Amino acid sequence: MLRVSGRPRLEAVPVPRERGPDPRSDGGPIEAGVKPGYIDHRSVCMSGPSLQPGDRVAVGRDMLQRLFDALRGAGYRLVGPTFRDRAVVLEEIASAGDLPAGWGDEQDGGVYRLRQRGDGALFGGAAGPQSWKKFLHVPARRLWRARRGPSGITVEEEGGDAPRFAFIGVRACDLHAIAIQDRVFLQGTYADPAYRARREQAFLVAVNCGQAGGTCFCVSMGTGPKATSGFDLALTEIADGAHRFVVEVGTARGAEVMREVPHRPAQAEDLAEADAVVARAAGQMGRAMEASGLRDLLVTNPEHPRWEQVAARCLTCGNCTMVCPTCFCTTVEEVSDLGGESAERWQRWDSCFTMDFSYLHGGSVRASARSRYRQWMTHKLATWIDQFGTSGCVGCGRCITWCPVGIDITEEVRAIRGGAPGGAGDGEVKDDAHA
Ligand code: SF4
Ligand code: SF4
Repeated sequence: MLRVSGRPRLEAVPVPRERGPDPRSDGGPIEAGVKPGYIDHRSVCMSGPSLQPGDRVAVGRDMLQRLFDALRGAGYRLVGPTFRDRAVVLEEIASAGDLPAGWGDEQDGGVYRLRQRGDGALFGGAAGPQSWKKFLHVPARRLWRARRGPSGITVEEEGGDAPRFAFIGVRACDLHAIAIQDRVFLQGTYADPAYRARREQAFLVAVNCGQAGGTCFCVSMGTGPKATSGFDLALTEIADGAHRFVVEVGTARGAEVMREVPHRPAQAEDLAEADAVVARAAGQMGRAMEASGLRDLLVTNPEHPRWEQVAARCLTCGNCTMVCPTCFCTTVEEVSDLGGESAERWQRWDSCFTMDFSYLHGGSVRASARSRYRQWMTHKLATWIDQFGTSGCVGCGRCITWCPVGIDITEEVRAIRGGAPGGAGDGEVKDDAHA
């Protein structure tokens, strides 16, 4: 396995648009009569009985644009997977033609590269470098600004309308991550109004994974690869033969949107193929992590020698916290103009890997890489359960792929359990665990 330093490597592949089918293409109409699952939209009626949550219907690949049109007609801005800098990222999209048709990815510790799949799948990759948190818990936002005027200082709080996003292609692990951030930001004594405003507006179109990534371990965490709740609509893409989607309705507003999209009831063949798609992904997990007893294992091992060993590799760059869909820590900064006439307070994402994060008067509480890595992993997998009732990890694998030195959280857990080289007894226990 190749390792890189500095940042995760995007392997030297040509820019996707230069290879194979044009990634902007919508793939054209589906072929008639290829498989029993073919959908003849001439015979499909949109004015039949109303759909209900739990109903499953089938739509052709060429009807995905009708779904997008219906969402835009309902006032949503579409956000979905698309290409940038040789990666599949989440950005606003205009049409189904912006989706990465025919492209998947290869992922490993510190490695990410795009690869052509050989089919026209629109959602053929695993989780990319970004998660939906950048739209709900934004990386930077102004909290207030103050101005000095003739009658004194006036303070304006930020507010205004939250954007109305439709998220296209939310994976099961990321649905669980959103549910975790809901608990963090919306429950308890202090709810975050900015998060609430964005979250309440969001329309979620999930996609059940048909291809697991090399660093995925959602099966271990019980978070995927099938979306089971928290979506308005959930798609299963069947890209073999007659390219189509099985659409599961999750909510009444999902049903309302589907009234605008030609569809037919899902047939037994559609459902069997959709189940096979998810089963294939479940059988392909690139990683596994034994989650039982993890809390007790970690909280009772603060002095384990493995912390020193992983710290020797860790650059404390914070990439793992930036890409993690559940990490939520922030800092606040005040900035003022040189004349002292105005000032602003900003909230920005922060990371427990920085020295400043634990700075108290006189110095940082967690001064060593060892203590910072231990803090992150122990919070994520153990004390998060005490705090929020669930693990803070959904098994998306992003922290493994985007760690520049390929540190692998599943490997670290295995080592602390004593089942991997460098595990219990393989190293000297030092007494500066809190250094
Ligand atoms: S474990 Fe996290 S902080 Fe350490 S090198 Fe990897 S990505 Fe950076
Ligand atoms: S800790 Fe890693 S695998 Fe778990 S949710 Fe965060 S980024 Fe994903």
